[in-house]
Amino acid sequence: MKRQIVHIDEELCNGCGACVTPCAEGAIQLVNGKAKVVSDSLCDGAGFCLAVCPTGALTIETREAAAFDEHAAEQLQQQRGTTYIAQHCHVCGAGEDKRVLLPCRTEGRSLWVCTRCLPALIHG
Ligand code: SF4
Ligand SMILES: [Zn+2]
Repeated sequence: MKRQIVHIDEELCNGCGACVTPCAEGAIQLVNGKAKVVSDSLCDGAGFCLAVCPTGALTIETREAAAFDEHAAEQLQQQRGTTYIAQHCHVCGAGEDKRVLLPCRTEGRSLWVCTRCLPALIHG
């Protein structure tokens, strides 16, 4: 089937790993220092990883790919439960266990902001 899926430009990827955690489905892993979609069926094409990439290596493309396998993604999430790395709001420092975090970009950096701190960023 043709569908939307994440594309990683290897030339642009610097292997920072910032995109691994935002991918709740576990579709992205670092392999030999480069981000890779380890299985098409784990990528739902939602693109949460795009906002955190500091180099613009991630885009969404439309191509032939296996259907998204929600069941396999859920199983992987459960397995990864113990290795999950919590992210923090760059303004107040609250972790994602306390607040909902959103990715944002500023001055070339990719950062997380919690929903309580977001209004101040919007309204200045
Ligand atoms: S966030 Fe971008 S530069 Fe960093 S590992 Fe992922 S694709 Fe590569
Ligand atoms: Zn905050």
